[in-house]
Amino acid sequence: MLLREHGLLFLCMLAACLAGIATRPIAFMATFWPANGLLLGLMLRNPVWSKTPLAWLSAWLGFVAADALTGAALERNLVINAINLVEVLAGWLFLVRQGPATLGFRRQRSVLVILVGCVIAATTGALLGSLSRDLFFSASGWQTFIIWESGELYNLILCLPVVLAAPRGWFWQWRWRRVLRPLGKLWGLPLLALLASEAAAFALQGPGALVFAVPALVWCAMLYGVFLVSLLNLLVGLWSTATLVLLGLSLTPEQLLDAVSFRVGVALLSLAPLAVATAHALHAQALQILHRAVNHDFLTGALSRRALMERGAQQLQRLQRESAPVAVLMFDMDYFKQVNDRWGHAQGDSVLQQFAQLIQHNLRPGELFGRIGGEEFALLLPHATHAGAQAVSERLCAQLREHRFTTEGGDEFSVTMSVGLHAGTPADTPYTMSELLARADAALYHAKTTGRNRVQAFDAAVMTPLRHGEISA
Ligand code: GH3
Ligand code: MG
Ligand code: MG
Repeated sequence: MLLREHGLLFLCMLAACLAGIATRPIAFMATFWPANGLLLGLMLRNPVWSKTPLAWLSAWLGFVAADALTGAALERNLVINAINLVEVLAGWLFLVRQGPATLGFRRQRSVLVILVGCVIAATTGALLGSLSRDLFFSASGWQTFIIWESGELYNLILCLPVVLAAPRGWFWQWRWRRVLRPLGKLWGLPLLALLASEAAAFALQGPGALVFAVPALVWCAMLYGVFLVSLLNLLVGLWSTATLVLLGLSLTPEQLLDAVSFRVGVALLSLAPLAVATAHALHAQALQILHRAVNHDFLTGALSRRALMERGAQQLQRLQRESAPVAVLMFDMDYFKQVNDRWGHAQGDSVLQQFAQLIQHNLRPGELFGRIGGEEFALLLPHATHAGAQAVSERLCAQLREHRFTTEGGDEFSVTMSVGLHAGTPADTPYTMSELLARADAALYHAKTTGRNRVQAFDAAVMTPLRHGEISA
């Protein structure tokens, strides 16, 4: 771990502790203490740091420096920050075993597991705090415990998800426009609804005010993703706290039960939007995987035949409106059965994968490459003239011919393919996928019967378009 990173960790903790100290009523715990959640999150996200004892020391020095700078007594300073460190360690020991997917909100159980980690950390801090309470304030043991427990639960549940769900890197390295882009969805209505709910809660007050924001937060959760929702949870939690403190709630033993109930309430309420955001993100991810599986061939990653036909039809409609030319190429490997027979089916699969990569490497935006079936593929080239399509075909043929395939045993071999092409303009071509493919297929058949390893263009004078399914080369 670099010296610079130790320095950054120290400064981060110093800044977070100073921010916390600024919210500390005289001789009492801070109203908001972000440092422990921040450290726990950073250690969970950076395995190298968490395995470096010096990193923990750098962080702890940040805690101690903040108290020293603000005039805390030495003994109090060392003890309270030792408790902070042990609290974070306890949460870390539990959470680090849960794996990056759970901690990154990529599991249904993520929110529950993180809650358990926060409870473990908060309880550890509360137990140690109540044992050494004489150093801090004159509350009884159980009072100290319950205040500490609820306070730390509130701090950790509001801060930890923000750090765990944050984009990679330090916040000054983030691409903020990309991070904040979801806020523009639905013209920012969910965010406006959240602001309106908070305004209503502020105006009406009362015991129910805390939950006014929940529907708007759940709406935000459906659109904004886990990170922005955890950030909104934090802001809403802080805002609710600030308004209540302004209105006279004292987060000290004098109003013990109110303070404890409020903090636990804020912490637990924030879990609902987080759970919704997680479920939504997982749902969107599952749909994306499903979409890919349906539209792409599993072996080669090329478009499936169905997706090629559908997307091709859309492209053709557009090209026809523009009166633009189009070309379709059909590829079929030469003597591919022999490749399988000689080198095995797995090697044949590998040839198909490498061939698809070779073509995909050459693709330009708008071009569609799909697997028609077996070792037959098709490529749609929008705006391509006959000469252009011929040149592309020759180039791809040559690239495949020159490509060396290597078997597991180290033997080298090469394969060739035949290409049938049809280039057309709206004047002379019916612009449907099946018609274009039928013509390219007829040309491919001709290429096969006239020697293979060559490119053949469709010629209406000597070839009959082959409807797909009628014949395969
Ligand atoms: P031709 O030059 O006439 O095309 O000869 P060919 O041997 O390539 O004949 P054809 O195109 O009719 O046969 C295709 C062969 O491709 C049949 C099958 O064994 C093989 N094949 C089809 N799909 C796959 C696949 O997914 N993986 C592998 N390894 N082989 C496949
Ligand atoms: Mg073949
Ligand atoms: Mg074939």
